[in-house]
Amino acid sequence: MRALRFHGGGDVRLDELPDAPLGPNEVRIAVAACGICGSDMHEFRHGPAAIPTSDRPHPLTGTSLPVVLGHEFAGTVVEVGADVSEWHTGNRVAIEPLLRDHDCEQCRRGRYNLCRAIGFLGLSGNEGGFAERAVVPASALHRLPDTVSLEHGALVEPLAVGWHAIDQGQVEPSDDVLIIGGGPVGLAVLLCLKHRGAGRVIVSEPSPQRRSAATAMGAGLVIDPNDSDVARTVRRETNGGVRVAFDCAGQAAATPTAVSALRPGGRLVLVALQGAAVQLPAARMLALELSVVGSMAYANTYPQVIAALAAGLSPTPLVTRRAPLAAAPVVFDELARDERQELKVLISP
Ligand SMILES: [Zn+2]
Repeated sequence: MRALRFHGGGDVRLDELPDAPLGPNEVRIAVAACGICGSDMHEFRHGPAAIPTSDRPHPLTGTSLPVVLGHEFAGTVVEVGADVSEWHTGNRVAIEPLLRDHDCEQCRRGRYNLCRAIGFLGLSGNEGGFAERAVVPASALHRLPDTVSLEHGALVEPLAVGWHAIDQGQVEPSDDVLIIGGGPVGLAVLLCLKHRGAGRVIVSEPSPQRRSAATAMGAGLVIDPNDSDVARTVRRETNGGVRVAFDCAGQAAATPTAVSALRPGGRLVLVALQGAAVQLPAARMLALELSVVGSMAYANTYPQVIAALAAGLSPTPLVTRRAPLAAAPVVFDELARDERQELKVLISP
């Protein structure tokens, strides 16, 4: 079968591979669609970063590059392992790619996104979704209702990132909210907020195409950070600031801006990865009792997202391009030159 493998920074190849053997607790999936994530592009441009190398194989998988990429995927069960009883050929599923040891303190508490050995299918050495087929643990599967398409199934993963961030922000239905960064992560937060309920949702984003997308998805106000003072505008528009801000920009300047846009007692959720250290206005945080909380992937979130999709949440506006697996290396090259040209790109074998 064909699969897109990461061999090193700037080097992804469409390789011909044998189908992997199926373990007793594993399931083989015919992949329907798999989204390209910002972390895939980060590995392509700057990696290997999270992808294990031969001198440091992943503790759970024991393997290293080359790895089949792709962790945002859905498909149909085509074969089940000897000890798998709850899944059958033909089941339509979304794959939760988070690997964990099921054994550490955080796993035992159910916070498996904080597992000491955390990994991801499609990054950490196990099989990924940019392939015709993938072997995954049966425990990674979530059934899709008949009314939820496989394409929407591939979008459960990025939506789960947004859904968990909202949980971390403890957003209540009347809260005004600021999202800094209108890329796929920020807009996933927006779509989930519109479905779950919030007050006014403000999005700050420099790209005009992404601002238009945010408006179409229901943002109450969109701001161009290049021509207005985001924190001042937000405080003016919300009578003193938002209750919750989401930093989805991944740029050092965004974090202090988000803190400055909070009302007393407000909460900042860090969702995007940042390389550089940031300075926070500590005196303001003390005086206004502001909180800062991280949001790492998701845990126990897939069932809620799938129920929301069945209830009408539509992530289709996130998808700006669909391409066949054969075109994936070219798509990676194009996105590496300008990642902001697209929101979510879906690859289908
Ligand atoms: Zn663990």
